[in-house]
Amino acid sequence: MIDQISNYRKAFKAIFSQKIVRDVMPSQFAEENRVIPQGEPLPGKWNYDNSPLTREIVDVLHPDNPIRICVVMKSAQYGVSDGVIHNGIIYLMKHAPAPILLTAGDGDLVTKSMGERIPAAIRSAGLYNLIRPSNQRKGKGRSSGDTLTTKQFPGGSLTAQTIQSLNKMRQTTYKIGFLDDFESAVLTNEQRDGDVFSVVKGRFTRYADQMKVFLISTPTLKDVSKIEPAFLKGDQRYWFMPCPRCGEYFRFEMFGKNSTIQKYGILYDVEDGQVIQDSVKYRCPCCGGDIDEKEKGAMIRAGEWRPTAKPMNETYRSYHISDLYSTFGTTWFDLAEEWNEATKDKLKLKAFLNLRLGQTYEERRQEVKSLVIAHNTREYEIGTIPNYLSNQDGNGDITLITMACDLGGHIGDDETEDDVRLDYEILGHSANGSTYSIDAGNIGTYKVGKNWDKNPNRPKYTYRHNVYNSVWPVLSDILNKEYLTDDGQRRMINICVIDTGYATMDAYEYLNQNPGVCFGVKGESERKVISDYTDVKLFKESNERKLDCFILTESIMKDRLADFMKKSAATQPQQENTMNFPQPAAGKYTLKNYFAQYEAEVKKPEYDAGGILKGYRWEKRHSGSDDHFKDCRVYNLFARDIYVKLFAKQLKQQGAKIDENSFYWSNFCNYMNHV
Ligand SMILES: [Zn+2]
Repeated sequence: MIDQISNYRKAFKAIFSQKIVRDVMPSQFAEENRVIPQGEPLPGKWNYDNSPLTREIVDVLHPDNPIRICVVMKSAQYGVSDGVIHNGIIYLMKHAPAPILLTAGDGDLVTKSMGERIPAAIRSAGLYNLIRPSNQRKGKGRSSGDTLTTKQFPGGSLTAQTIQSLNKMRQTTYKIGFLDDFESAVLTNEQRDGDVFSVVKGRFTRYADQMKVFLISTPTLKDVSKIEPAFLKGDQRYWFMPCPRCGEYFRFEMFGKNSTIQKYGILYDVEDGQVIQDSVKYRCPCCGGDIDEKEKGAMIRAGEWRPTAKPMNETYRSYHISDLYSTFGTTWFDLAEEWNEATKDKLKLKAFLNLRLGQTYEERRQEVKSLVIAHNTREYEIGTIPNYLSNQDGNGDITLITMACDLGGHIGDDETEDDVRLDYEILGHSANGSTYSIDAGNIGTYKVGKNWDKNPNRPKYTYRHNVYNSVWPVLSDILNKEYLTDDGQRRMINICVIDTGYATMDAYEYLNQNPGVCFGVKGESERKVISDYTDVKLFKESNERKLDCFILTESIMKDRLADFMKKSAATQPQQENTMNFPQPAAGKYTLKNYFAQYEAEVKKPEYDAGGILKGYRWEKRHSGSDDHFKDCRVYNLFARDIYVKLFAKQLKQQGAKIDENSFYWSNFCNYMNHV
């Protein structure tokens, strides 16, 4: 019965909504009504053959189309404003009037859009008579009807505002949204962890089952992009076209590589630094055949949108548009020329990727330059323990000295084939948690990357014991040395932790030789994604060797370290956990060889299939990057806490009345001051 009633309702609804002319598609309406004035590019009747990629997108506006959220990540000049937004608005005014929200990057763009471009589009379609004339009421100072922020028409309205003030959005509800310049949206602090769309969604909920919201933008920097994550949640449509040589469908990419064709995409020759115009062509990724620019237009018109991913839900769609698909204006030669220039200049490269290819740009170097700890080098020499300086800095005594070793390199069949490198750092820990790096170096000459075999005459080391090129005797010399403080004391390394994740049996053997001083550490086998650390242990005993080996939850310490890295040594007295470094010398503690390694990893959010944040994962920026000194630092921070734990255990065994589970670094420092 209820089913029947709802069926009747559907039927009634269908009859009454027939005033919407169902058989006119938005693209068809534009082609029949929109006229581009003389003097503009491509004057005359609008024709989607001139921008075929926007036809399907504007047709999403048809009330029968099930799509609710439509993302367009695009190059700057493709003509999405005209093909989708302006043509969309005139269609809606005539055939599906509704409250519409339009955004632009800033106030000037809102004014330009509402004062010039949109009125021109409405006028060119002969629909300006639908706009209610402006009606300025005396004394009220507020006008309605036709203004620079609102245009009213029978059954609907168009309201424009900047995307920058999303939180100041009027408490009005909309059915249609063109959120243009979406990348420029500014979020308040509380909103920063959520996605931008969730902030505006509330304005559309009254029409949840009928709304159509377009998120449109050219992307910018990868780390802060808002349009790229939105694009990735959709079905990621690209325009595929048949190759005039082989007939296979493929999509345009500036460059690409595959196993059959090697290099495909835009190819060109350079003479005296200039791109030779006749040499520019597109190589097909399927057959390797070359395609001439003259064939491009017909090829694009024969193409179609194809989804390349599973969307977060069936009503969420996303499109990507680049200038490689430009059917007039930008040529492949233009792109080749700009690319040729862009490879020499970072800013040009960013502009090219964003504005021409519609891709984000990943900033790699800037963060290293802004790395606070690279400025934290102090007036002490490598190998000296700056106990006096630590007190001067307000950090108290250096109470503990730890060493950490990270094992890497290549292990062959015997010691003559081995080529390994042990990286180490010696670290002084002050009472308030601040640290002073004492030395950071390596034993062995192996280099990360594919050129590790370049110099065959360099001395190569091994992790095997009792052979001439073993790393262990060299390590023992460093480990068992006496170190001088800057106030006349002699100190030794209290604890040394060694990575046992690699060359495990040889590392164990070294632990056997150095009981009570050397301990094994290993990161969790699976790099877990965690968003809540409340119940996670910092480290736990290893099942294999309970007495002297520990399994580490590295992500917790990496989060802490990321926090420590923000503290400047110049703040006096220093804040807790400030990181201090000696004067660089002999290639040690330089930006390139040392500090850059602290930036080798980034913390990336991970989402489940529904787009919900699951947690974060520390990942290398790129696979070849060297981060051994950062690993050493992470191990050294663990070494301090492992030492305190073992120390408390020993005190307890000796009969001290302490709770070993709540005996921390501060308790240890207090204890050491009183003995
Ligand atoms: Zn082909």
